[in-house]
Amino acid sequence: MKITIDRVKCKGVRNCASIAPNVFDIDEEFKAVVLDPAGDSDEDILKAAKFCPVQAILLADETSGKKIFP
Ligand code: SF4
Repeated sequence: MKITIDRVKCKGVRNCASIAPNVFDIDEEFKAVVLDPAGDSDEDILKAAKFCPVQAILLADETSGKKIFP
């Protein structure tokens, strides 16, 4: 899973880090960062992206580059 964080949109709400704590963390600027894109299951990563209130988590297929979310 290719994970991109839109740091302009991210509001540091932390939903992502609660749902997939091994993938997402919040840095000192209160923006999400990716710790390890393979740290949690793809299902949890997708759930984290869906629960982001500002859709700041963009997901794509690692190999094909095809957009998965949003
Ligand atoms: S849930 Fe969205 S807004 Fe909140 S920290 Fe994660 S990426 Fe940022």
